[in-house]
Amino acid sequence: MPDRRRIAARLDELWGIARGPRGGADRPAYSSAEAEATRRVAAWATELGLEPAIDPHGNLWALPGGWKGPVVTSGSHLDTVPDGGRYDGALGTALGLELVADLAAATANLPARPGLLVCAAEEAPRFGAGTIGSRLLVGSLHPAELADLRDAGGVSAAEALARYLRELADLPRCRPATDRLRAHAEVHVATRRALRELGVVTRVASPRRLVIELTGESGHAGEVAMDERRDALVAAAEIVLAVEAAAREEPDQTVATVGTAEVAPGAISVIPGQVTLGVDARAIDAASLDRLEAAIRARAADIAARRGIGVEVRLTRAGTPTALDGELARAALRAAGELGITAETTWSGSGHDAQHLIALAPTLLMFVPLHGGESHTPQEGADLDEIVAAARIVAAVMARV
Ligand SMILES: [Zn+2]
Repeated sequence: MPDRRRIAARLDELWGIARGPRGGADRPAYSSAEAEATRRVAAWATELGLEPAIDPHGNLWALPGGWKGPVVTSGSHLDTVPDGGRYDGALGTALGLELVADLAAATANLPARPGLLVCAAEEAPRFGAGTIGSRLLVGSLHPAELADLRDAGGVSAAEALARYLRELADLPRCRPATDRLRAHAEVHVATRRALRELGVVTRVASPRRLVIELTGESGHAGEVAMDERRDALVAAAEIVLAVEAAAREEPDQTVATVGTAEVAPGAISVIPGQVTLGVDARAIDAASLDRLEAAIRARAADIAARRGIGVEVRLTRAGTPTALDGELARAALRAAGELGITAETTWSGSGHDAQHLIALAPTLLMFVPLHGGESHTPQEGADLDEIVAAARIVAAVMARV
């Protein structure tokens, strides 16, 4: 049985690491604060008889000492968004430790032994790209690409990773145990308020990102008549509304956001000649996402043509929705039923390591409902009874893998 007091104590301790000035957790990807939290978790893993070690991507593996056979892992991440919450990542990591303790006896005679896998650099804000550790692990992100990801201070993810590994020099190094991995489970605090029960995630959206470059003609704001203008920003304004309208025509789980807009020359008395928009589109249904992308491209072309504006649309991230392992999800719902715990299937609009790790082994992703504040804020809340219930479900599933 998962120990609720130990879970609460570990969450408290992780919450105490690198608290920022606004009250939240500030543990950016590949930072000293993430390293400190990782070292703390490694110490707890050692107490459980695991052998913690760091792989070349900064991920923490804590596997049974001396064991060379197959493993089932659980865990989440330890970095946070700026001013982040108590549970995001920390919850799944604290539960991963608890599951190892809980499963050790139950799985003593099974072929796969339980371990902990905590993926590094999961949150996107520092480098503009998330789930770095897990994507490096499965090969969907290449180490050479880390040189191009830079934070606001100009530090590349490659430099940050090298520094991160130096800071964790006191921990042993390991090769990723990807070939021994038989299953992985991640419990995460829900990122959507609408979820009121424990959620077994069956599909995860992944962002598809487009950059729309609009080229009109700059001119004096006082001297060019209205019908002589080729104003790139008014075309952009129409395109922003068209993106919203196109997403509204799709199912509720399909969304699109124009999150960035750069205007050049960006002067109060100059007609904008150049605008660059950044679009993030997500869906859990691939056909819907494809339709949305096509609609955005077509409408941007129409609007630009009508206004005499040049337009170029570039795909910068070709995300597509991921289905998680159906068998593990069904096993989780069955286990919930047997334990008398209410759980429902759900989906995720935000990215998680589990959606990448499925390239290595079946993965289970479970959400614990949010209580109180929003996800990615210091007010983010969760209920300890529901956390323990999620751990019991995952333990039941993993004991049968
Ligand atoms: Zn998270």
